[in-house]
Amino acid sequence: MENNIDKHLKIKKKLKIIGIILIVVGLGCVIAGFIDIARANNSYSAPKLFFLLIIGFPLLFGGIACTLWGFAKEMARYAKNESVPISNEAGQEMSTGLQGITHAVKQGLKDEEKIICECGQQNDKGSNFCSACGRPLSKKCPNCGNVLEQYDKFCSKCGKEME
Ligand SMILES: [Zn+2]
Ligand SMILES: [Zn+2]
Repeated sequence: MENNIDKHLKIKKKLKIIGIILIVVGLGCVIAGFIDIARANNSYSAPKLFFLLIIGFPLLFGGIACTLWGFAKEMARYAKNESVPISNEAGQEMSTGLQGITHAVKQGLKDEEKIICECGQQNDKGSNFCSACGRPLSKKCPNCGNVLEQYDKFCSKCGKEME
């Protein structure tokens, strides 16, 4: 991994050096070509170094492209390196938060799903008798026949108050 990164960095470094050399050479060619055209215009003779412009421009643009590519990759790498830990931290915090919420919700549901007997035993919802002491955990509403938990004060169906 390390070697690959080093190799990659070296390639990018070369790319930037090549790019800068191309820019310098291309720029030199373009300037020389322009100077020749200016001189040719002044002396009313055909420019002899016009080919320098033809060579110079692609070199210049190629050099700019190489340099930009070399730096763009580097910038992308920095952006990636900086954004990844942040998103990791945020993700961890979020997942921890979510875990906490999920745990709380689960715990809440568990408590709601349990019927706590007078003896302290937690019985699953729907249990008719305590699994520890055998006390009845449910009763029927005398008004509508709805099955209620032992300690419900009002019927959830008809609203009748239990004795
Ligand atoms: Zn019990
Ligand atoms: Zn009822």
